[in-house]
Amino acid sequence: MHQNTLQTFTKTKNPNSIFFSTVSLNILKSPILFLVLCLVNPFPSVEQRASATPFTKTLHNLRGIRKGQEANGVGTLRSYLSHLGYQINKQSSSNNNFDENVESALKHYQEFHHLHTSGVVDDQTIRTMSLPRCGLPDITTIANPNPNPNDLSSAPQNYTYFPGNPRWSKFSLTYRHSSSARVSISMNEVRQAMRNAFETWGENNSFSFTETSGSSDMVYGFHRGFHFDLNPFDGQNGVLAHAYAPEDGRLHFDGAERWTTTGSGIDFQTVGLHEIGHILGLGHSNVSDAVMAPTYTEIRRSLTQDDRDGLNNLYGFYN
Ligand SMILES: [Zn+2]
Ligand SMILES: [Zn+2]
Repeated sequence: MHQNTLQTFTKTKNPNSIFFSTVSLNILKSPILFLVLCLVNPFPSVEQRASATPFTKTLHNLRGIRKGQEANGVGTLRSYLSHLGYQINKQSSSNNNFDENVESALKHYQEFHHLHTSGVVDDQTIRTMSLPRCGLPDITTIANPNPNPNDLSSAPQNYTYFPGNPRWSKFSLTYRHSSSARVSISMNEVRQAMRNAFETWGENNSFSFTETSGSSDMVYGFHRGFHFDLNPFDGQNGVLAHAYAPEDGRLHFDGAERWTTTGSGIDFQTVGLHEIGHILGLGHSNVSDAVMAPTYTEIRRSLTQDDRDGLNNLYGFYN
């Protein structure tokens, strides 16, 4: 019965559009891994970011491409959209035909990110795809075929959960730091930012978060490249961090990023806040200014109503 109350999913204009194939994603296999990336670097321009990765270079080469055309890099775009959870035929990344399947997936991407749904690799799309973002898929849930009519939430819901709606079975949680990589910000700054982020998620609900040095429910830290899970980091920009769904508790930050707590670089607290949302069981939201939005271009250190609604509905915190 309780499980039913947890069933809430992203609403879209086209109900079918939320049936994205996510099961093929390694990160969604059990234990579910959520790559989270929050992007928050307001300083480098989009153009600077766009030149920072091979993928953004590929995107620029694809500018203007549309259905029926063929070009090197379409296969890469296909893989990218598939990785983010958009339904697309499984084909080799060497298939460079921009067919209607690619167009459809691209339109869904554009819809999720509130872009013009042109189905064309236009400038707006290139700009959005070039932003640092969560490594987790945009689409992580499967539509609930039997929505609970007693769901207390009548407002549009854009927050999502992991498949199966995993959540913590207790509200008093502990966390500790453990890194394999060094970063330029001090541990005092890191610890304070994490403390702030946990407190933000614990406002007005039953959760309490306590830092410890011993065994803990959650472990966060900085790592670079391959770090003994299935999701190696990609260096500066691109994926900033990732975390696992309940009750795993692992939260990894990419040690290659320019982390900061003062605004010049990638705001650590903003990314931490986003990742903790995943650790607590939230997926990505398509509400642009939500903490749980997969891409983010500014410092965000407080929750939006959508974030609070998502947590409250998952755990039954109704005020
Ligand atoms: Zn995320
Ligand atoms: Zn990791």
